[in-house]
Amino acid sequence: MATGAATAIVDLLNSRPYAGLADKLDDPAAAQLVLRPFGQEEPPPASRIEQIRAVRDTLVSLADESGDWADLTARLSGSVFNFNFEADSVRLRQVTGDPVVGRVAQAVATLVEEGNWSRVRLCANEICREAFYDSTRSRTRRWHSYEYCGNKVNVAAHRARGK
Ligand SMILES: [Zn+2]
Repeated sequence: MATGAATAIVDLLNSRPYAGLADKLDDPAAAQLVLRPFGQEEPPPASRIEQIRAVRDTLVSLADESGDWADLTARLSGSVFNFNFEADSVRLRQVTGDPVVGRVAQAVATLVEEGNWSRVRLCANEICREAFYDSTRSRTRRWHSYEYCGNKVNVAAHRARGK
């Protein structure tokens, strides 16, 4: 099962323009839905959207395995956290940087620490490229939806082999 962090990150990646869809971050209502899991309760101002978009695009390239983790580290360098200790718990408290970017950073950190970042991938269908979370044990899922993308590709491959 995809965790809350995984679902929120996949939704963020799918807010980008792909497969003919518009950039959801350009639409205040859509942006609010995408960013709510990261603590944004109102449509964010355009000045903040640019920074969030840049982080998103870096994450897309990492999901596509064409990106560089050092770029993400640099992008998130403005998000600084302190430990908040209590007797039976410890939490990170953000002290500087955009709060949504900070929450995105924490969600990605969770996935990386769990060893689950590699489950966040882009659909192998070149005209789709929707991001998805592969929760299979074998981690071999290639399409966001077997029905929509995998089947078509398989039928095409089967036909090609038959010729
Ligand atoms: Zn697809």
